[in-house]
Amino acid sequence: MSFTSLGISPSLIKALAEQNYTQPYPIQEKAIPAILERKDVLGIAKTGSGKTASYVLPILMNLEGHSKNKNRHINVLVMVPTRELAAQVNEVFQIFGIAMPFPVKSKAVFGGVSINPQMKSMNNINILVATPGRLIDLIESNAVHLSEVDTLVLDEADKMLNLGFKEEMNRIFSLLPQKRQNLLFSATLSKNVNNINQILLRDPVVIKIESDIDNIDLINQSAYFVPDEKKGPLLRYLIKTKELKQVLVFTSSVYKANNVIDKLRKNGVENCLAIHGKKSQGARTETLHKFKTGKLQVLVATDLLSRGIDIEFLPFVINYELPRSPKDYIHRIGRTGRAESPGEAVSFITPEDKHHFKVIQKKMGKWVTMINSDSINLHGY
Ligand code: AMP
Repeated sequence: MSFTSLGISPSLIKALAEQNYTQPYPIQEKAIPAILERKDVLGIAKTGSGKTASYVLPILMNLEGHSKNKNRHINVLVMVPTRELAAQVNEVFQIFGIAMPFPVKSKAVFGGVSINPQMKSMNNINILVATPGRLIDLIESNAVHLSEVDTLVLDEADKMLNLGFKEEMNRIFSLLPQKRQNLLFSATLSKNVNNINQILLRDPVVIKIESDIDNIDLINQSAYFVPDEKKGPLLRYLIKTKELKQVLVFTSSVYKANNVIDKLRKNGVENCLAIHGKKSQGARTETLHKFKTGKLQVLVATDLLSRGIDIEFLPFVINYELPRSPKDYIHRIGRTGRAESPGEAVSFITPEDKHHFKVIQKKMGKWVTMINSDSINLHGY
């Protein structure tokens, strides 16, 4: 199937080709025609499936012929759980928005940065990508009005609910016009997501795309038995011997993330930075940008990054510390092995982690190759 046969316009096809989107992904094959027909859609799909373009492209096409919106009114509202995802989705709208034969203006708004510039730049926006808390702030300051929204997208609805945004979401829903198109995307169809589905969606086209678990086979997984005090040398050993140019290292706490960075720097790995909840939004955005564009060798992150963020061709993920839940393990290693590019995921297992790692493997339904770090000469690392 081609993008043309899905009803995508020639100007967009050209922009897609420039981004190396030659063929639609399965979710795009199903979602694009449905959204173009103005149907509601329930998409059970995770990041990596191509879900963003599956709604961005038809939404852009549906904007054609829209009368110019009054100041501070928007046509399309996309709600997302995190700042990073807001920025990423907005980027996709902008990349393809400029290919449209009419002006399209999109904007991302999220907390953690000053609200004033956001308030001042709300004029003539067609598409607003927002986290729920900041959107409420903007509504309360009269900086944005929702009464002309004709398309609502909830992206990663399950995560939004897990993060406790239910009240904000309900409040936002109550401000939307009755007649509108609703698109709901979620990695899982939990009970809470299904509740929203039932309240919000009218006779939706339901699209279910492979789960995380199906994707696991794309990833080469291994694990090292290693005592805690040898994790630092083992990390440096892997970085050097495998000549890693872009590696994402997960820790479980902010303290540990900073600690790993300190140790790397002290031992000659200078090009490393951390992302966690204690970093300013500006620093987080800049670090992520550096990493995505290949200018940062080692990114150390807490689970803030384990979901929702797409980094193209990320070849290597290391679990310096195991996450608590098997689900988080899968989300973390899911940073590699995306779409058609296989990746490698390595976990460090201390004697205390052994049992927990067994549980993770059992839940995942796959056994991971184990290597004893005693068999490696870590001297000098
Ligand atoms: P998403 O699930 O929306 O985060 O997309 C995952 C990745 O796939 C992103 O890097 C997209 O740029 C890329 N992508 C999405 N659709 C296509 C496509 N049809 N062809 C090639 N790459 C795509």
